[in-house]
Amino acid sequence: MANIHRPSTLSIMPTWQCNASCSNCGTLSHPKNKVALEPALITYAIDQAKRDNIAVVVFTGGEATLKPSVLLDAIRQATELGISTRLVTNAWWAKSNYAATKMLAQLKSAGLKEINFSTGDEHAKFIPVSCVANAIVASVEHGFHAYVMVELVATASITKESVVHELEKLNFHSDDKSVSFIESPWTPLDPSAIGNYADGVCANKSNLPQRTGCDSIYSTPTLQADGTLAICCGIGMQKVKDLQLGQLAQDGTSLGELCESAELDIVKLLIKHFGPEKTLAMTSDFREDIVWEDMYAHKCQACIRIFSDSNVLNEIRSRESYFMAKLAASMGIERILEAAFDE
Ligand code: SF4
Ligand code: SF4
Repeated sequence: MANIHRPSTLSIMPTWQCNASCSNCGTLSHPKNKVALEPALITYAIDQAKRDNIAVVVFTGGEATLKPSVLLDAIRQATELGISTRLVTNAWWAKSNYAATKMLAQLKSAGLKEINFSTGDEHAKFIPVSCVANAIVASVEHGFHAYVMVELVATASITKESVVHELEKLNFHSDDKSVSFIESPWTPLDPSAIGNYADGVCANKSNLPQRTGCDSIYSTPTLQADGTLAICCGIGMQKVKDLQLGQLAQDGTSLGELCESAELDIVKLLIKHFGPEKTLAMTSDFREDIVWEDMYAHKCQACIRIFSDSNVLNEIRSRESYFMAKLAASMGIERILEAAFDE
């Protein structure tokens, strides 16, 4: 059987350590979590990414810049192999214009292609928005388009507008060509907790048609700081055993082959194609006590619910042929057969 879904991006977490300790951090990071990858394993993973024709390597964390030489070496290696690179950072290092410029110059010279900054109320408890603004300005000056991920909660003090205001204090007037803001629900990892969201943000029957499949599972395997490979780069996926593929052994097995081992799992296929929210909704058609409406703004929290709720898993596994028929109708039966018989 060949891969139906080939990995296109490799996410690498050089360390789970972070200078911040946001509540509900998606990787359970904080200053005392010093778990970090051996540089040799990062080198191996990037070589494997090249073999698998993976187009992009993303460095995330934790805070990847806490391992600056490891990070810069890895960016250089990927660049020399013709792989594009992206860094996700909280910008703690941009404490001044000088510090921001110095870091951006190093990243640019190593070959970094894209940079994403994270901010919001939780982040700002540890990293002032002024750091994010310094980092945005320096990144644009170094020819990057700055992507800024802002936590989405109902009553936020830090919003896109506050970042723009901070930029204006630096006489920097952002436009769509230089900076993109992306709001992402700040999600609890506990599947029974309901986040602080405005009305209509959580999934329910009326907005379910707009909920999409997960574009991370299968396509973005993640090498975590403890050397474990996961099948996605989702928030909180560390807590989900079923999303883990095991330690990345340096035995030449391709990343695609490792991901292939998860392709026969009906639950993951449903998450990929329908998304966690629609998958929950489908199971609730069979069991009224599977309650899901107005609970989940972020698909990863709904996903954690699926894998931690035995009632949901039992409904899917005991009706595998029903759900397989739904998938076949959605994916196209030809595509499934083609993949099954392709040598
Ligand atoms: S800055 Fe990011 S990695 Fe660090 S604790 Fe906060 S959410 Fe986690
Ligand atoms: S929805 Fe699930 S599979 Fe997809 S990224 Fe989130 S945790 Fe991973």
